[in-house]
Amino acid sequence: MPLVTMRQLLDEAAKGGYGVGAFNVNNMEQIQAIMEAARETKSPVIIQASRGARSYSQDRFLYHLMLAATELYPEIPVALHLDHGNSPETCKSAIEMGFTSVMMDGSLMPDGKTPATYDYNVKTTREVVETAHARGVTVEGEIGVLGGIEDGHGAGVDALAHVTNPAQAEEFARLTGVDALAIAIGTSHGAYKFTRKPTGDILKMDVLIEIHKRLPTTHLVMHGSSSVPKELQDIINQYGGKLRPTWGVPIEEIQLGIKNGVRKINVDTDNRLAITGAIRKVFAEKPEEFDPRSYLKPAREAMKKVVAQRMTQFGQAGHAGDYAPVSLQEMAARYK
Ligand SMILES: [Zn+2]
Repeated sequence: MPLVTMRQLLDEAAKGGYGVGAFNVNNMEQIQAIMEAARETKSPVIIQASRGARSYSQDRFLYHLMLAATELYPEIPVALHLDHGNSPETCKSAIEMGFTSVMMDGSLMPDGKTPATYDYNVKTTREVVETAHARGVTVEGEIGVLGGIEDGHGAGVDALAHVTNPAQAEEFARLTGVDALAIAIGTSHGAYKFTRKPTGDILKMDVLIEIHKRLPTTHLVMHGSSSVPKELQDIINQYGGKLRPTWGVPIEEIQLGIKNGVRKINVDTDNRLAITGAIRKVFAEKPEEFDPRSYLKPAREAMKKVVAQRMTQFGQAGHAGDYAPVSLQEMAARYK
C-alpha cells in the first residue's frame, strides 16, 4: 500500500485503544529493522526523520528507501513523518517530497534551541496546518518545552521547567487545528533522562490526564520516550563503551499514557543503544572482521528486536490488517 497519513494511523489507534511507536531513521538498515519488526508483529508503524536525518541521508535517499519499504511490505500501513520541523519552510519541503505527516515544533524558535512565545507557536503552527491539510498531510504540534537536546535540537532545559499548561494546550489545539499534540510532562530527549529510576511522581501523568480530558479527540504524543534498558547500556559498556548510569521512561508509565490518550510514542535512543552495542560486540569479539555486513547485520537484528518489543508493549501489534489506506486526496477533502 502507499504511505498512509499519520492521522489515519492515530485515529485507528484511538479506536483500538493502543499506541503507535514512531521510530527515527537515518539509513537503510534502520528502515529494514523497523519493517521487519512490523511484519513479524503485524503492526502499523510511523517512521520519522529529523532535520539531522534528512541532512545526513540527503533526504531523497531516505524517501526512496521508504518507497521501497512500501513495495516490499505491502501489508504494513506506514506513515512517513518529519520529526521536529523548525520552521514552516522545513515542513513545506518535507510535504513537497512526499512526507505524509509533519511536526511543526513552534515551541522553539527556528534555531531549534531558543524557547519561543506562545503567539509565535500558534501562528507558525497554524500556517503549517493550512498548507498541510490542503494536501491531506497530518500535522503534529508541540506545546510546552521538552527537556534535553537531540540531534542539535532542544533548549537543553530541565525537563520540568516548561511543563505543558492544560488550559493553554486546549486553546492551542483549537486555534491551530493540529491532529496530534506533543506535550511536555517531564520527558527529555537523549539517553540521559533521569539520574534515578523514575517513579510515578517524576513524570507529570496528572497533567497528561487533564490534557486528555480537555482534548479527547486530539492525539497526544510522548517525545523522549525511550526506556533506556540497562541490558542495552551494559552491552555497550561491556565492550569498551563509557555510558554513565542513566534511566529512561518506564514502559508502565508509557502504557498509563496510552490509557489516557497518548497515541504516538517517539523512540530513538533505545535503537541507537541496540545498534551500537551490537557493533561494539563484533568489534571486540572478532577484530579480524572488516566486512561492514559482519557488524551491520547483527546491528540491524538488535534494533529489530527492540522495535518488535516496543510494538507489542504499545499494543499496535496485530493491527496492521485492520484497515485500508485513505488517500491524501480523501484526507484533504475531509479537512475541508
Ligand atoms: Zn522529540
